[in-house]
Amino acid sequence: MTSSNRSPVWHPYAHLKTQRQAPKVIGGEGPYFTLEGGETLLDATCSWWCMIHGYRHPRLVSAIQRQADALCHVMLGGLTHEPADRLARELVRITPAGLDHVFFSDSGSVGMEVAMKMAVQYHRLRGRPEKHRMLSLMKAYHGDTAGCMAVCDPEEGMHSLFAGYLPRHHFAPAPTAPFHADDEAVAQDLAALRAVLERHHHEIAALLMEPLLQAAGGLNMTSPRYLQGARELCDEFDVLLVFDEVATGFGRTGRLFAADHAGVTPDIMVLSKGLTGGYLGHAATLATDRVHEAFIGDSPMHAFMHGPTFMGNPLACAVALESLAVFEEEAYLGRIAGLNRVLEEELVRDEALAAHPAVVEVRTLGATAVIETRAAADLAGVADWAREQGVWLRPIGRWLYTMPAYVTSPDDMRRITAVMKGWFRR
Ligand SMILES: *Cc1c(COP(=O)(O)O)cnc(C)c1O
Repeated sequence: MTSSNRSPVWHPYAHLKTQRQAPKVIGGEGPYFTLEGGETLLDATCSWWCMIHGYRHPRLVSAIQRQADALCHVMLGGLTHEPADRLARELVRITPAGLDHVFFSDSGSVGMEVAMKMAVQYHRLRGRPEKHRMLSLMKAYHGDTAGCMAVCDPEEGMHSLFAGYLPRHHFAPAPTAPFHADDEAVAQDLAALRAVLERHHHEIAALLMEPLLQAAGGLNMTSPRYLQGARELCDEFDVLLVFDEVATGFGRTGRLFAADHAGVTPDIMVLSKGLTGGYLGHAATLATDRVHEAFIGDSPMHAFMHGPTFMGNPLACAVALESLAVFEEEAYLGRIAGLNRVLEEELVRDEALAAHPAVVEVRTLGATAVIETRAAADLAGVADWAREQGVWLRPIGRWLYTMPAYVTSPDDMRRITAVMKGWFRR
């Protein structure tokens, strides 16, 4: 028991010695949330990129209420239910052609763990047990569980402290060619990827990547051509291609999935964050027939030994279905294009911002924008400063970014960009 009236809640990524009392959120509406005491903040991050419809969306709230009245939860082991079946069908319909099988789990990290286990077991079942390591990219972020930490950037990925505890995998350099790069620039990135595959393909089960946008590792953006080249390399070296679309999925890059920019179907794709509109934790790992078929066989080894208690939770599936319906009926891709126009106009084309000595680069993709600075110190105090102006910003290291809810109006988007730019003018 604690003697003070300090909350026993242990906050993520926080220095316990220097952290301050976290403000208490009591509600929200659209892109805004409200704090105890009445302060209202415009959320530039939509709560770690998942609240794509904003807070308290009436259709999402009532979808949960309706489902709660019928069935809150039942195990998916040996049983099924309508919301899981319908959501799986919808995900197969909207994802790249060929991803026809859906394994549910409860978070993005676990969805990635499922993807990696699937890839290792796939090769094992095909008689290639030595292919049991992953190939990941520098700047990657795939989650905070042990298996995921091992495929995050080993130096800057927040987890270097755990190096001795984690299995060893392979890493290729992060792509450097930007979204609109010419073929020559992309060819250099692909040559670096090929070099690692040539040396180690005999033990590599899968190449993992956050397609087009390495998010938590510094909002690094690359070209759709890189995805196409990676697909070809994976086929050449008998390596599965896994797209971690936990952050990029559901419109963040301007298309429904980042894979859609490239016309590429990965062998395995992981979705979470925006899947439920952020209203409940859930994830889906999709696989192609080729992967799925390897698991059809007579030995006990053929079963996929994974089964999170809450996989396919009916409340999560029901709200995910409603989220998808709203996304399509309200033409969110058009809204995202509108938000991108504001981000381009207000941030990328701002010459004073680009010329500021602390600024390295300003870039956007879909409903994402980042001002990359030279050092984290250039952003010290920015969150408090933004809050004074009614905007919730939370930089990652030396990256000041926004990933707003898609319901953010162009005027509110300008309020966010004004605060981001204002920091460098103050
Ligand atoms: C957030 C994130 C994860 C981890 O998801 P959790 O739900 O936090 O476990 C994995 N991959 C990417 C790309 C992410 O952005």
